[in-house]
Amino acid sequence: MSVVLIHTERFAEHQTPPGHPERPERAEVMDVVAARWRERGIDVVAPPEATREQLARVHDDAYLNVIEKTAGRAVKLDPDTYTSPESYEIALLAAGAAVDAVDRVMKGPHRAAMALVRPPGHHAERDRAMGFCLYNNVAVAAAHARANGVARIAVVDYDVHHGNGTQHIFESDPSVLYVSTHQYPYYPGTGAAREVGSEAGRGFTVNLPLEVGAVDDDYRLVFDEVVLPVLRQFAPELLIVSAGFDAHERDPLGGMRVTTPAFGAMTMALRAVAEEYCHGRIVCVTEGGYDLHALAASIDAVVQTLSDAASDPRWPSSTLASSRGRASADATKRALGPSWQFS
Ligand SMILES: [Zn+2]
Repeated sequence: MSVVLIHTERFAEHQTPPGHPERPERAEVMDVVAARWRERGIDVVAPPEATREQLARVHDDAYLNVIEKTAGRAVKLDPDTYTSPESYEIALLAAGAAVDAVDRVMKGPHRAAMALVRPPGHHAERDRAMGFCLYNNVAVAAAHARANGVARIAVVDYDVHHGNGTQHIFESDPSVLYVSTHQYPYYPGTGAAREVGSEAGRGFTVNLPLEVGAVDDDYRLVFDEVVLPVLRQFAPELLIVSAGFDAHERDPLGGMRVTTPAFGAMTMALRAVAEEYCHGRIVCVTEGGYDLHALAASIDAVVQTLSDAASDPRWPSSTLASSRGRASADATKRALGPSWQFS
């Protein structure tokens, strides 16, 4: 499959205080990865800035004004979330990259796109910056696709943290399915199995909370028993992935034990759904991932999987026994039994 990388070349200018996990070295890693794939013949393009209209589909006007006023200034927006003078522009490029990725896979010729962005987005609420995130890049991208006539969009979020912002923005909207695997209990505190959406969106929020220490087999189990069956019943026209790599075994923030090949396997499993229902259209947008080696290797695994010939997902075999996946899948099936069929 042909892949395009959307590369926010200026993202190192988004600076955080010394010792903060969202440090500029993450940008250097993404620069190296993008350069390597460009050498291998993959298209790498720079994104446009997101427009006010695109952002206002998921963020309140008053909040957009707050972020706009950080232009040229270093500001602390919440206990974890900072700007440098350039962050406003870089954040516009991050959201713009996610939007551009959607446009490119909808119009072709590329069917798969990966947006390499900083700052991340999935904690950003309609009216609040949170957890290193300014704009909710993936939510802006999903809303853009909806505004351009895509009827059903699935967002799959395998970042180690729950994407509270994305869940809340779409929780009453049945046209955007939100599926998350995450460490629980953990920051930001949301993401229990019983959180299934509200009103018309009831059943269209699917949370798979996993106890700290989950291994590849746990992820495989929840994918096979919940994530993939729900996606197939929902039959999305576009698949968007919140591709955080902080569930990696090397990550200093997360407490999970996911290996690099498992990120490839998850990507291949999601790609199969995209090929079955979405004409192959799949967009990955980076979120967290704070070990630099693990981040580079995991992004490589995703891009490789998207560009390879289709195959069955090659899950690594875990040497560690764990019942965390079973507990998570069972809790989620109980909560969502009225909405989806599970075997
Ligand atoms: Zn995260």
